[in-house]
Amino acid sequence: VQPPAPSSTAQSEALFERAKRVTPGGVNSPVRAFRSVGGVPRFMASAEGAYLTDADGNAYIDHIGSWGPMILGHNHPAIRDAIVAAAAHGTSFGAPGWREVDLAELVCQITGVQKVRFVNSGTEATMSALRLARGFTGRKYTLKFRGNYHGHADALLVEAGSGLMTNAAELGAAAPSSAGVPDEYARLTLVAEYNDASALDALMAERGHEIAAVIFEPVVGNAGVLLPSAEFLAALDRVKGNGALLIADEVMTGFRLSASGATGRLGLTPDLSCWGKIIGGGLPVGAYGGRAEIMDYVSPEGPVYQAGTLSGNPLAMSAGLATLQALQADPGLYDRLDTYTARLAEGLQQAADSVGVTVWINHIGSMLTVFFQAGPVSNYTEAARSDTAAFAVWFQGLLKRGVYWAPSQYESIFISAAHGETELKVTLQAARAAFAEVVQA
Ligand code: PMP
Repeated sequence: VQPPAPSSTAQSEALFERAKRVTPGGVNSPVRAFRSVGGVPRFMASAEGAYLTDADGNAYIDHIGSWGPMILGHNHPAIRDAIVAAAAHGTSFGAPGWREVDLAELVCQITGVQKVRFVNSGTEATMSALRLARGFTGRKYTLKFRGNYHGHADALLVEAGSGLMTNAAELGAAAPSSAGVPDEYARLTLVAEYNDASALDALMAERGHEIAAVIFEPVVGNAGVLLPSAEFLAALDRVKGNGALLIADEVMTGFRLSASGATGRLGLTPDLSCWGKIIGGGLPVGAYGGRAEIMDYVSPEGPVYQAGTLSGNPLAMSAGLATLQALQADPGLYDRLDTYTARLAEGLQQAADSVGVTVWINHIGSMLTVFFQAGPVSNYTEAARSDTAAFAVWFQGLLKRGVYWAPSQYESIFISAAHGETELKVTLQAARAAFAEVVQA
């Protein structure tokens, strides 16, 4: 048997054909299908450190880290050992166990919330937090921001970012963002432009008494990276004076932008926080938490129902625990991630400039987006002006050189502890060559 040629994608192509016959679009989450960048999605066989290896044996420097969870790099020994050790004692109890108590205590200690409830995804976390806010306040309406993505619960699929932004042209999306979400639901969700403090103040002055919750990404990853202005953060803080709950969706940013997430880094204290991704160390975990007076509205303590067969699953909890413990044991990591990502941003800007491609780069901590436009980019409307065709050419240029970037203009990349000097150098070389191809295209 001949080993596959390094550039062969035969196995991925064959798997994609089989997958399309039995799964919508051949994938279990839309952005993986490469619809906006074209080409064959790579079907992965293994992951180690900063690298993904596909079914044909091609290795890639991974810049998505499973869309956030793998902050320590893939197949981290401490996390793998914790999962294996937990599995030896049974995979699900349907009854409480010690690991969920340990992880809840650790999350409370690190983030400052008083109580936390574990669920199985970021979607469940935001959906449940929203129900809790409605139950707690007795109000119906939610306010969210254009281009922020909070998972795929009906009430939050309104002018949402991420894959919905990628596929917007395809869907003809306005509000709601998805077929199957009744207008009646969408009407309960008000939408404002991100980073527009006066629009938020005006909406709160007019409708604040009806609003149960304002939900937001404290740093946006789902329209590409958008950074909140100081004025906008101050307006978000004022929401709390209105009786509405302020819900920080830290599914991407939690335990990533600092130990206490984006809100901790930016000095904002929400009423409720939602987590996912890193909190499960690569296994399916989400969580929401806040002050005890609010969290005690959740069943069985209170009247807001929320449950889960696999919630608090011992394998998932062990992966989350090992991840948060490893992060705690390495307090310098966040600074190192910041430095690496800042150098990557600078190198990418120079590479683009050197061949005359216009890009605007937003980055913070270990999150970064290269927007193919002159910028500045601070909200959905500005992000949507990007040249997605140029991005697609650049993406393919990276991929064929062994650099796996987020396969959409409107996503963040995620740097991990496993990214080092070699990965930075190879990525920047590939980026420069790929920018040159954008000029030729
Ligand atoms: N909120 C944010 C900010 C997210 O980025 C995501 C997913 N990328 C979600 C919620 C939904 O999380 P999940 O995909 O785990 O359901």
